Amino acid sequence: MTNEVMVDVQNLVKRYGSITAVNGVAFQVNKGEIFGLLGPNGAGKTTTIEMLVCLRKPDEGTAVLAGFDVRKQVNKVKEVIGVQLQSTSLFELLKVDEILHLYASFYPTHVNINELIEDMLLTEKRKDRIKGLSGGQKQRLAIALALIHDPDIVFLDEPTTGLDPQARRTLWDIVLHLKERGKTVILSTHYMDEAHVLCDRIGIMDQGELIALDTPTNLVKKLQSSSTVEFHLSNPPEEEWFMSMEGVDEVSIKDTFVQLYTDDLQVALTSLIQASEQHQFKIKDLQTRLATLEDVFIHMTGRSIRES
Ligand code: ATP
Repeated sequence: MTNEVMVDVQNLVKRYGSITAVNGVAFQVNKGEIFGLLGPNGAGKTTTIEMLVCLRKPDEGTAVLAGFDVRKQVNKVKEVIGVQLQSTSLFELLKVDEILHLYASFYPTHVNINELIEDMLLTEKRKDRIKGLSGGQKQRLAIALALIHDPDIVFLDEPTTGLDPQARRTLWDIVLHLKERGKTVILSTHYMDEAHVLCDRIGIMDQGELIALDTPTNLVKKLQSSSTVEFHLSNPPEEEWFMSMEGVDEVSIKDTFVQLYTDDLQVALTSLIQASEQHQFKIKDLQTRLATLEDVFIHMTGRSIRES
C-alpha cells in the first residue's frame, strides 16, 4: 500500500425523489488498499458505488478516480476501473472461456485469459456453461470479467452475499490476492466478519451517511467498552437495574438475552455474580467476548446491523 490517493470522494449526494440515498459522503482510498463500505440494507452503499463507477450522476459532490473525474472524464474512468455489481447478469448459455474472450474483445488490451481463469480457481470449469456453475463460481467469474482489462481499481458490491461459508472464504482469498497484486479494492458488505478480515479501512454507512471511518481495529478500540458479557435470564429486570452495577457501561436486553458492555471485564463479572447471588438469579449460557464491529454499529446507531 502506498500513499498515492486512487479514489478521492468529496461530499457525494444522491437523492431519489424525497429519499436522500447518499448524504454528503466523503473518503479517500490509497493505492493497494482494500476499503470497505459496511452497513445494513438500504444504507446507501450500492448507490455510492454506482456513482463512483459512472452508472449514476451525483446530485452534488465530486469523485476522482486515478486522477479522473467521474462527472467529466467518464471514458477515462472506465479504463481504470473494474466493476462487479450485485446484479451482474451473465450470458447463461455461454461457456466460461467464451464469455471471457468475448469481454476481452471489448478492450484494446487484456490480461492473459488462461492465467485469469487459473487465478479465479475456474480452471476445471473453463469449458462448462455458465448456467451450471455454483453461486461462488459465478461470483468468481463476475470478478474475472471485472479484471479482464487489468484495471487499477476494482469495485465489488456485496461479493459474497448468498454464498456458503466455504465459498465466501475462497472469495476472501481472491480479494486478498488482488491487493497483493497492487490493485485498489472498494467493496461493500453487510457482513462484519468479512469487513474485519478483508479491509484495511472501513467506512460504516447508515441512512445515507458515513458515520465512522477507520481501520477495523481502531473502530473497535474507540469503543468505550472493550468486552461484552452475554447471558440468558428467564425474567430479566429493566436495563437501568444492570446499569447501576459497577463496571457496566451499556446494556441491551432482548427477551431473555442480556448483553452487558464493559471496559473492565473482571469488575463487571464480579458485580454480576454478586447480584445473581443476592437476588437468586439463575444465569444461563454465560459468555464473554471481545467487542466486534457489530458492537461498534450498535453503539453508534442503537440498532444491530442485521435488524436494520
Ligand atoms: P443493499 O445492501 O440492500 O444493496 P445499500 O446500502 O446498497 O443496500 P442502496 O441500494 O444504495 O443501499 O439504497 C439506499 C436507499 O436508496 C434505499 O432507501 C433505497 O430504497 C433507495 N433507492 C436505491 N435505488 C433507488 C432507485 N433507483 N429509486 C428510488 N430509490 C432507490
